[in-house]
Amino acid sequence: MSQPAKPLLLGAIADDFTGATDLANNLVRAGMRVVQTIGVPAEPLAADVDAVVVALKSRTNPPAEAVAQSLAALRWLQDAGARQIYFKYCSTFDSRFASEPRGNIGPVTDALMDALGCDFSIATPAFPDNQRTVFKGYLFVGDVLLSESGMKDHPLTPMTDANLVRVLQAQTRRRVGLIDHTVVARGADAVRARMAELRAQGFGLAVVDAVSNDDLLRLGPALADLPLVTAGSGVAIALPANFGLSPSPQAAALPAASGLAAVVSGSCSQATQQQVRAFIDTGRPALALDALAVASDPASAVQRALDWAAPRLADGPVLIYSTAAPEQVRAVQDRLGVQAAGELMEGALAAAARGLVQAGVRRLVVAGGETSGACVQALGIAQMQIGAQIDPGVPWCHARLGAALAAGQGDGLHIALKSGNFGAPDFFTKAFEALA
Ligand code: ADP
Repeated sequence: MSQPAKPLLLGAIADDFTGATDLANNLVRAGMRVVQTIGVPAEPLAADVDAVVVALKSRTNPPAEAVAQSLAALRWLQDAGARQIYFKYCSTFDSRFASEPRGNIGPVTDALMDALGCDFSIATPAFPDNQRTVFKGYLFVGDVLLSESGMKDHPLTPMTDANLVRVLQAQTRRRVGLIDHTVVARGADAVRARMAELRAQGFGLAVVDAVSNDDLLRLGPALADLPLVTAGSGVAIALPANFGLSPSPQAAALPAASGLAAVVSGSCSQATQQQVRAFIDTGRPALALDALAVASDPASAVQRALDWAAPRLADGPVLIYSTAAPEQVRAVQDRLGVQAAGELMEGALAAAARGLVQAGVRRLVVAGGETSGACVQALGIAQMQIGAQIDPGVPWCHARLGAALAAGQGDGLHIALKSGNFGAPDFFTKAFEALA
């Protein structure tokens, strides 16, 4: 039996991995104890928690697959007693399989509402802390409309319309209305009244405006009775209060950390480049994995890196990185192909992470979204308890290692997964200080 001993308060279904962590982080900050699982859990939960966030990888799948995965997650969460379900998507509202222009958010929402017997829900990707705001139903990224932001050129999920009512209406069988800022500004009772009005008029969904955390906190109480909430991670700051919870250090408590420390970085984003430079500037040991050397003999390149790390680990954190400047990355991609270069380096960094853990590393920072996915898989991690935030969007997590990796140093691993542009320049050193 994989179900928790105590019924869950909140059950969340996230359409990608780093998005799940982002949501879990917000729930923990608002007072919930949370475990994030990688896919639908097959094993008992490692901790007694208030919420489970099931991380799927359904954002860019064909809609039927995204629906099937989401329904499987829903069934598990319902069996675990979840009182409310949260469908978490990206704060830029993108979700799409290449040959299906409509997107997955609508089909998944429809399926979850049908399964829950839910006749009304809301949709808002607003995440003001991350400069995603919704006004009059239009989504802004920073100071520009979604359709004028970098998302218009996204390689997998381009967004060319910022009007969320229109975008969602094209994806769902239900009628989509709007709860605009004039209503949200008047507070939860006004939102409740507007929801009742929309429901009476035959609307099944409403996009909700929010331009600040205060808006989200005003909205929160009005969502208490909805079986399903669909949103980015922003709304999460307001939900734990509906269950009588408030921010507390206990929510973020993890087992004590010990063991050796390392950073593995495969992100080539600007913030990560700065973080690699800052780590090197502290004088700590750092080794660059050369992509072309990896291409010619991956196993030897990884082994050389591990042999380099072994005698240094006892003296404090080491860094193994493939992080490189855009022109270097392009040169490698031109030579190997974009996809192949990415998979090659993800595989090498994941093998390095595994080797480091086998060498006794129990405090591990991974930089890069895709790189994180590859490392978590290579480490056989099925669930992570979410701890305190290091920098916005990036918490320390605690995972149990399988028997094959647990030898010697024990089976508990503290791991922080930092996607691309997250984190301050000193992230790679401050993360370990935060754990001390
Ligand atoms: P981010 O979160 O910054 O986007 P990701 O890990 O998601 O980071 O993506 C970075 C991608 O770049 C990965 O597929 C990784 O394997 C690849 N990569 C890393 N280093 C190099 C390199 N030196 N040359 C080419 N590709 C690289």
